[in-house]
Order: sequence, then structure tokens, then C-alpha cells
Amino acid sequence: MEAEEREGKEVMDMIKLEEILRHYSPEAQIVKSIEELAELQAELARLLIKQGDVKKITSEIADVLIMVNQLTIILDITPEDLENWIKFKIDRQLERIREQEQAGADCGWRKP
Ligand SMILES: [Mg+2]
Repeated sequence: MEAEEREGKEVMDMIKLEEILRHYSPEAQIVKSIEELAELQAELARLLIKQGDVKKITSEIADVLIMVNQLTIILDITPEDLENWIKFKIDRQLERIREQEQAGADCGWRKP
């Protein structure tokens, strides 16, 4: 999908989310967000005990992304602010990894 087409689709999805938000209260959608996060958490826990199902996880990720996008509307979080936080946190994590590798530290979660 071309960037322009993707951007157009994202705008359309946000318009649909705004329609959903005109129906439900912000409080209801915050509660729904908590529920969806818990459902993804449960599916991920099943994955760790080898009972995970990628289709179910994909469905739960979709639910969480839908709710997260609604939260950005409810809380008036701009895409730019969110992108800045994402960039900052990814860069910070990469910096931590580089520091750990330079120090020869093993966090216990590295790939063998
Ligand atoms: Mg769900």
C-alpha cells in the first residue's frame, strides 16, 4: 500500500473511530480499553505456555490498536506527540542495549 493511500485510509479510520466515540462515553471507552489490554495480556500469557494462537493474538492486537487510537482522540494526544514519544523510547532502548553490550552484561532475555 502506497504511503498516500495508507494515510488516506488512516484518516478514514479515525473518522470512523470518532463516530464510535459519539456513541459511547469516554469513560466507557477507557473501561473497554482496559478490557482489551487484559485480553491481549491473557493471549500473550498463553503463548508463553505454548497454548498461544497467532490468529487470536492478531485479533487482540487489532482490538488494542483500535482502543489506543480512540484514547488518543479522547485525550487529545496529537500524532506528532505520540510519534515523538515512540522515537524517544525506541532510541533510548537501543542506547541501553548498546551500553549493555559494551559492558558485556547479560540481561537474561537475549537470544542465544
Ligand atoms: Mg478483544
